[in-house]
Amino acid sequence: MGTFRAIVIDKTEGGQQVAVRDFDEADLMDGDVDVRVTHSTVNYKDGLAITGAAPVVRRFPMIPGVDLAGIVERSSRADFKPGDAVVLNGWGVGETHLGAYAQKARLKGDWLIPLPKGITPSQAMAIGTAGYTAMLALIALERHGLTPDRGPAIVTGAAGGVGSVSVALLAGAGWHVIASTGRPGEAGYLKDLGAAEVVARAELSGTPRPLGKERWAAGIDSVGSTTLANLLSMTRAGGAIAACGLAGGMDLPTSVAPFILRGVALLGIDSVMAAKARRIEAWGRLARDLDLAKLAAMTTTIPLDGVLAAAPEIVAGRVRGRIVVDVAGEGS
Ligand code: NDP
Repeated sequence: MGTFRAIVIDKTEGGQQVAVRDFDEADLMDGDVDVRVTHSTVNYKDGLAITGAAPVVRRFPMIPGVDLAGIVERSSRADFKPGDAVVLNGWGVGETHLGAYAQKARLKGDWLIPLPKGITPSQAMAIGTAGYTAMLALIALERHGLTPDRGPAIVTGAAGGVGSVSVALLAGAGWHVIASTGRPGEAGYLKDLGAAEVVARAELSGTPRPLGKERWAAGIDSVGSTTLANLLSMTRAGGAIAACGLAGGMDLPTSVAPFILRGVALLGIDSVMAAKARRIEAWGRLARDLDLAKLAAMTTTIPLDGVLAAAPEIVAGRVRGRIVVDVAGEGS
């Protein structure tokens, strides 16, 4: 048994302390598959965990990081063998189980899926939980029966991770995409990803009316709060909004009017505990449908210790698109 480099959160009297340090393999938690982590990413939730801005971490010491891609080193299962490339998203990893910001992870094989064919580990982490959540949201809208001929689709928090991938996916599927952002300087970036229109965040964050002008048939919302309430009040009859985030707040000051007078649906998206079959479906669609040139355009790559500086930036809403963490130092 040896040690490996990891970002570790320790609990201290004054709160929590975060450092890049050596971690003893003997202190890994139970699992039936050992993975050599090559790449990870920085999601909003990782930012909350590292800054301590919300109680994401529920065990100390904790190695944060909710997403990883890597190579199986040891497995006591029939479905994974040494050398297999795998991906993990969520399942409490980085929250209750030692996580992704480390050269090594010991995990339950039930949590792993094979790296989808056609994408590299680095591309899988450019997608990450943010992109996989965007695909779960698109699938939920499609299962609701919505198609691009029904009207535009709105994406909020559009310049963020879930938002950027949502814009690219919806545009690729033929939707007229309206991208809402608080960063007007990112309009060109969003149009390059496929947005047909860019609207100011402020336009959708005022006090919501029970019903507003019908502007879109579908939406993917990362923001919550008054923004989600405004989205619902401006959704066309029979339309739906997929709610996946709370970057603007956890509350939802809406009324029943959109639901009972327009038959609007609110579709909840949870990526963390989604069943394995749904993950495999979403990742298969991502590998098939996501434009990899657009993915590259929304991605920056940082080394493991760069996560410490990226965490407060993503919580402050200043990160554009997606970040890949090159854990193994192999490049992207
Ligand atoms: P990012 O920080 O990358 O994106 C969030 C975006 O929201 C920002 O870039 C910004 O976009 C916008 N935003 C930030 N703060 C505010 C604010 N106060 N008011 C309005 N808009 C704001 O995060 P992710 O894309 O990784 O995650 C987005 C959300 O989705 C988070 O709340 C996250 O916890 C949640 N999430 C949920 C998952 C699930 O399973 N349900 C899975 C993954 C993420 P802009 O500047 O363009 O306005």
